[in-house]
This record gives sequence, C-alpha cells and structure tokens, in this order.
Amino acid sequence: MNNDIDWGKLPFGYYPTDYNVRCYFKDGKWGEIEESTSEKVELHIAATSLHYGQEIFEGLKAFRGADGKIRIFRLEENARRMRESAKGLMMEPIPEEIFREMCIRAVKLNERFIPPYGSGASLYLRPVEIGLTPRIGVKPADEYLFMVIATPVGPYFKQGFGVSNYCITRAHDRVAPKGTGRFKCGGNYAAAMLAGEEAHAKGYSAVLFLDPLEKKYLDECGPANFFGVRDGKYVTPKSESILQSITNMSLQTLCGDLGIEVECRKIPVEELEYFTEAAAIGTAAVASPIGCIDDLDTGKRYVISKDGQPGPVSKALYKKLNAIRLGEEEDIHGWNTIVE
Ligand SMILES: *Cc1c(COP(=O)(O)O)cnc(C)c1O
Repeated sequence: MNNDIDWGKLPFGYYPTDYNVRCYFKDGKWGEIEESTSEKVELHIAATSLHYGQEIFEGLKAFRGADGKIRIFRLEENARRMRESAKGLMMEPIPEEIFREMCIRAVKLNERFIPPYGSGASLYLRPVEIGLTPRIGVKPADEYLFMVIATPVGPYFKQGFGVSNYCITRAHDRVAPKGTGRFKCGGNYAAAMLAGEEAHAKGYSAVLFLDPLEKKYLDECGPANFFGVRDGKYVTPKSESILQSITNMSLQTLCGDLGIEVECRKIPVEELEYFTEAAAIGTAAVASPIGCIDDLDTGKRYVISKDGQPGPVSKALYKKLNAIRLGEEEDIHGWNTIVE
C-alpha cells in the first residue's frame, strides 16, 4: 500500500506506477510478454502510428473490493472491443489470452497503487496498441506494440454524485457516418478536441453530438455514451457512429434486473424535452447525470433535472454497478475477473 497518495483527491490523470507490460507483434506473431519499468517507448520516426494514426486503446478499471480481493471489471468485453477496433484500423487484433494476461500482470506488478476499498478511487488500466512499421506510403504496419499501462485515478465525483451541463452544436462533427466512430481510436479524440475545448470555454462539460449525417438525432455525449429516461424507460441512441460503451451495455443489463424497460433507438433532438433524467456514460464516471442541455444553434435550453439533482434511475444504476465492481453485491452476470 502506498501511503503517500491521497486517493480521494487523485484526478483522472497520469500518476506514475512501477511497471507497464508490453508485447510486440513481429514476423507474423505475438512475442513474449515483457515487464518494463520505463515510461518511454522507442519509436521509428516514420512509424504508422505517428503519421497515419494507427493507434487504438481501451480503458478499464481494477478495484479493491469489500472482501479485500482485487477485481477487474469486464475484461473480456474490453478485449473483444479492442479486437474490433484493430480490425477497423487494419491493425493486428490482440488475442484475448494475451490481453487478459497483460492486464492481470499490470495489476499485480502495481499492486501498491491499487486504492483501498472505500476510497472511491481505482487502478485504471489503459491498454494501447500502435503501428510500428516505418511507412511513408499509406499502408498498414506489419509490426505492432501492445502495452498495458496502469495508473491510479480518484473518484470521478469529488463533490458527490451531481449534475453537469452540456451543449449541442452543429459546427463540428466528432466522426463521419460510416467512419471510425465505432472504434476506440485516438484519432476520434483528436477530431473532437476543438469542439470539446470550445464547449469548456463556454462553461459546459462537453458537446452532446448529433448524428453526423442528418444532425437530427442524439449520438455521443463528448467521449461518452448517452441515456435518457422517458416515462420510466431507459432510452439510448442507436447509431453506427457511436462507440459501444461497455458501461452502457452493463447498465442496460442492470435495467433488466431492476425491471426498467430499455429502448435502443434513434432519439430526435427535440425529444430531450420529455426526458426526466439523462446522463453521460463511460468507465470513468459510470453515469454522469446531466442538468441541462443548451442548443447553441437554436438557443433552446432543455432542462433535464428540474431540481438540479441526479434522478432516481441514474442513482439506482450508479449504485448497483458500483456495488458489483466492489464485490458488495453478487456478480450474477460474471462481469468481474478476480486477480488471485
Ligand atoms: C471509451 C468510450 C466510451 C465509454 O465506453 P466504456 O466502455 O463504457 O468505458 C464512450 N464513448 C467513446 C467515444 C469512448 O471512447
């Protein structure tokens, strides 16, 4: 245990740990898993990741549970999604066994950075794959590096579970209709940074993006998925340009357990009027409730939370998902990998 860290105050940022774990794909095969204490990688100046954006990543968390055991949440789903991202960017898919072994090793080697139970903090795992082959002509790399880095992150809600505000703008798109939105690649983030910074400058948490083809339907909520609650139902966008959030999938399953109906469909922007709750969804926050949404182009304000507080569905789902990750509630869906 690392006594120098004030776990509750840690940001969602990079905090150096002892080890990262690496594996190279060369000569048509994945090599031995390597443990490294270096925070650097050596990269060819013409590597495809640098020039042509062959880079994909994942984000998942490990927790110290109520029983003292260490749990990694939904490792297999993250492994599967990363293989999908690899195929989408013509990169080498990482076999699930290698992904699993490297995540577990990154946790074990950095055990002293796993925040204690009750702190609200966790050990964030960031698997990342990059193309290494030098290319000037545009062509996928033959060689890849897959790494898992680990860094402790604090609780997302430092002042308690509360709401934040979003804006809609038609001035920027995050992704293209049949583009890379469904893959977790750095390029999507670079493409959304200008929109995000403009939103921050106006005091919003992020942009609630509309579908890039017609700009009629809700798409992603900054770098997160979206759900709203209408007539007691959990409603989430169906779109080919969003990244399938594993948290969103999990919340939909929990809705089933709680008897809440789920609708996955196109959501016209005007429907925001009828939502009594809404939230941005992802691993970092689980669900970050939305207070109000301003449409910057029409001047319309959608007040989602009338009292400025998270609603009952958001609260119930947030609590239940956290309880499962922390081993407080039985893991009936088999979502946790226990690190022995
Ligand atoms: C990672 C990510 C999410 C959230 O996915 P989780 O699996 O729930 O963490 C949502 N949208 C985008 C664009 C993402 O990159």
